Amino acid sequence: MILELSNVSVTYQRVDKSRVTAVDDVSLTLNRGEILGLVGESGCGKSTLGRAAVGILPVAQGTVSFNGGKVKAMARGARAVNLRQLQLVFQDPFSSLNPRRKVGEQLSDGLINLGKGREEAQEKSAQLLEKVGLSRSALTKFPHEFSGGQRQRIAIARALVVEPLAIVADEPISALDASAQAQVANLLVELVRETQMGMIFISHDLSVIRQISDRTAVMYLGKIIEVGATNEIWNNPAHPYTRALINAIPLADGSGIIPSELVGDVPDPRFPPPGCRFHPRCPVAIDMCKTQKPALISVQSKSRRQVSCHLQKENSPISVL
Ligand code: SF4
Repeated sequence: MILELSNVSVTYQRVDKSRVTAVDDVSLTLNRGEILGLVGESGCGKSTLGRAAVGILPVAQGTVSFNGGKVKAMARGARAVNLRQLQLVFQDPFSSLNPRRKVGEQLSDGLINLGKGREEAQEKSAQLLEKVGLSRSALTKFPHEFSGGQRQRIAIARALVVEPLAIVADEPISALDASAQAQVANLLVELVRETQMGMIFISHDLSVIRQISDRTAVMYLGKIIEVGATNEIWNNPAHPYTRALINAIPLADGSGIIPSELVGDVPDPRFPPPGCRFHPRCPVAIDMCKTQKPALISVQSKSRRQVSCHLQKENSPISVL
């Protein structure tokens, strides 16, 4: 195991001074060479969780461990040396690339910080660009001279400089056009398989998660409500929310973004519903769902499978919903 989140909660203060628990008591693990897909609707807390996992946001409770050490939140420039191999790839590559500096300079910086000479850093930067499918000539260009997909490749190359053991990719393809989406997703998969780093791939797009993830974690209103091997979850979802997300795939626009069989909107995270947070939208809710919180329990499965729903029983076969 390369990355472990144990009972992690993340809170933040809104402009009106109210406090929101964006991530509530989440435990997850990531192994080397594994792709863990983290999926849920917009505002469910998945990006906040990703940032806490790499130490950009502080956790209010719980711990994050990376490669045997504890992850403490601090500014990117001040990150502990042992966290350099834990990287975040952003949705918008512009947020991680300096528009006024040439690509080669930006890639070389990381290598020079690691003690490489300037010439060696340039050569290694060129190799990294080739690895992500760009030519060496990109070294002397500025980020604005590239398409969105190419810029994301540059951002990935920059993350690769430190030979990461784990990366969190936060919606890394959602700002790209369809063909660039497939190419960048395939590139990330190839890199994981080749380097054996672990990757948490955050997306609201179920079809991509299904395609590339070994395991999938489904998030709803700050909680993980189901986690397990991707193929098992898709063939037999144990949680009504997961089922709704899956059923949405062939409906909306092919990408399964809107769970159209669900009534209502995602509740305000400042005031999560009592009992099961999903109960106001759940088509199969029972009385106890309104008052009693379901625990995340293990159910019978070929691989380790956990679900948080009163209709499932611990260590028993999954009930058909
Ligand atoms: Fe639906 Fe109840 Fe299960 Fe929540 S606990 S998902 S409300 S059946």
